[in-house]
Amino acid sequence: MSLGPLLREIRACTVCAEHLPAGPRPVVQAHRDARILIIGQAPGRRVHESGVPWDDPSGDRLRDWLGIDKPTFYGEHLALIPMGFCYPGTGRSGDLPPRPECEELWHARLLAALPKVELTLLLSRYALAAYLDADPKTTLTASVAAWRTYTPAKLPMPHPSPRNNLWLKKNPWFESDVLPYLRRRVRRILREARRPG
Ligand code: SF4
Repeated sequence: MSLGPLLREIRACTVCAEHLPAGPRPVVQAHRDARILIIGQAPGRRVHESGVPWDDPSGDRLRDWLGIDKPTFYGEHLALIPMGFCYPGTGRSGDLPPRPECEELWHARLLAALPKVELTLLLSRYALAAYLDADPKTTLTASVAAWRTYTPAKLPMPHPSPRNNLWLKKNPWFESDVLPYLRRRVRRILREARRPG
């Protein structure tokens, strides 16, 4: 199936509606020309309301990490695909985990429709568990610390949420080592993608 009909199918999905306190509203961005794929966690309430992926402080930090502006971030060379496409609701200690149905139903089909992706950023322990076979409970720091093992195709990263400020403070190597690499890669990939013909 090509990307357009697949995205229409996803946007009409109500498979786990009974578990979604705010109701289904899948928030996904994908273009056939995407070179960089960002696999995040799940929309928060603000993104659920706007329907715009990463339209929140986490998105502002993510764009800073990538070294790109909003038009580029929302342009045809980036795909923004969370582990769960709909806002899962909030529990005592923050947003609930992403619904597991999306990975099983949609991920493989979506990724197959993005043939030009060169770099996949795995943000959050759920994305790491799904795409690096990492234990979601214990290995976020270890997986991110081993980032060179996964390049150039994948880059494990913490989620850019303000909730992770303490993690970022405890692991200053992420900003000093990983981010300069990430910005260089992103610059190079986008320069190539924009090259005519
Ligand atoms: S979370 Fe995923 S499976 Fe559930 S309704 Fe939304 S798109 Fe469908």
